Amino acid sequence: MIKFLSPTPTLKTKLIVFDLDGTLYNKRWLSLRMVLHAPWDILKMQAERKVRSSMKGIWLENKSAFYTEYFRRLAAALHLSQQSVEQWYNQRYMPLMVRLIGKYQPLGEWVLPYIDACRAKGIKLVVLSDYGHAHEKLQALGLSPTLFDWVVSAPELGGLKPAPQLLYHVAEQMNVSSYDCLVIGDREDTDGTMADATGAQFQLIKY
Ligand SMILES: [Mg+2]
Repeated sequence: MIKFLSPTPTLKTKLIVFDLDGTLYNKRWLSLRMVLHAPWDILKMQAERKVRSSMKGIWLENKSAFYTEYFRRLAAALHLSQQSVEQWYNQRYMPLMVRLIGKYQPLGEWVLPYIDACRAKGIKLVVLSDYGHAHEKLQALGLSPTLFDWVVSAPELGGLKPAPQLLYHVAEQMNVSSYDCLVIGDREDTDGTMADATGAQFQLIKY
């Protein structure tokens, strides 16, 4: 169960930046479910995790540079062509994740009331996910992306958490200072470190 929340951000909070996976929903057993639903892809899934972790905190400035490097590393790890790993990622891996989230992973009970409370205070809301397919995941959870001012993934901006440029970019787009942001996430080493590096507040979520 959730361990916070007073739905009361600090007085100066003007923007809340939500992580998605493990934050807006409980991701318990998701990795295992992925493997059980596509056991033939286990090596690819393991390689994907390793590559993602090798690129943690990277900043390459734009989406195209990020995905070129990401698929280059994944193809090298699997001894496959970049085209085939890209196809696997976009057409099988991410759609499977979205489908399993919609079927099995529960939306946090705190999420909708919290969003309403923040809206009532005029606080802007952004989802910043470390993965792509963020819109599809929100829809799978029954959360309309229109509840947020912006739904964006870190790779679309050119990097991965905890690169501070990600939060600076989001804050700038929303016309607020990063000092007036509250980051809500389930990982101290990514969401928390990014918040610390940019002077934002951080709220840890644990299910
Ligand atoms: Mg997360």
